[in-house]
Amino acid sequence: VIEIRDLHKSFGALEVLKGVSLSAPRGHAISLIGSSGSGKSTLLRCCNLLEDSQSGEILFEGEPIRWTGTGAHRRPADRAQVTRIRTNLSMVFQSFNLWSHMTILENVMEAPMTVLGRPRAEVEEAARGYLDKVGIGDKCDAYPAQLSGGQQQRAAIARALCMEPKALLFDEPTSALDPELEQEVVRVIKALAAEGRTMIIVTHDMRMAHDVAEHVIFLHQGKIEEEGPPEALFSNPKSERLRQFLSATA
Ligand code: ATP
Ligand code: MG
Repeated sequence: VIEIRDLHKSFGALEVLKGVSLSAPRGHAISLIGSSGSGKSTLLRCCNLLEDSQSGEILFEGEPIRWTGTGAHRRPADRAQVTRIRTNLSMVFQSFNLWSHMTILENVMEAPMTVLGRPRAEVEEAARGYLDKVGIGDKCDAYPAQLSGGQQQRAAIARALCMEPKALLFDEPTSALDPELEQEVVRVIKALAAEGRTMIIVTHDMRMAHDVAEHVIFLHQGKIEEEGPPEALFSNPKSERLRQFLSATA
């Protein structure tokens, strides 16, 4: 679904991604791990073009992003292409980002109606279905402030699903949650992995990184230091840096 080839990204003089390549094939989940500042969020944001990048290719379903300009001036050339990619790669953030003045149901219905222009009745049925799926079907008429953090995050996941995206991008979906609330969100993400959703998950939770993904990428200072199947990476890390990272997070 998404492929990245040799991506370079700098903020001014600071090079944050130094030639990163990854491929998220349909039906696969990828976990992205690494220390704070290693470039995980930036890589995720480059995937759906929330950030520009200076060189390298990004392909969505085999279709390369078309660029205009080079280096620091490189920008996506085609607005329609950017919109298509954004709407097909739904992002879930650490800080749920729900609209506080809308009910949970309205939050989930908003983008499919306004961005995709789908009819209200159809969207409402889908939204209720996704809220049921994440276990908060009874919270449709509540406002975000009336929900626990775990429930708010599950609402944010339902909102992402309601866009019927080709892939889901998670940026530390459980980091803002207390351990007991974290588990309800982990369960939802595991269920999504089990049904073969294409996902990229940035997480500090090594248990979840191990359990949900077919492939794990360890990012270190803007480069992929090691990658592979979770069993290999977690039980038999080759790189000394990964070994240190894992022992520090254990
Ligand atoms: P964390 O685990 O703390 O979330 P991360 O791996 O997600 O870290 P990034 O947020 O991708 O790291 O940041 C990578 C580097 O890029 C950091 O050095 C950060 O300070 C820098 N950076 C990120 N966003 C910006 C920005 N908008 N402007 C300037 N520098 C930035
Ligand atoms: Mg981050």
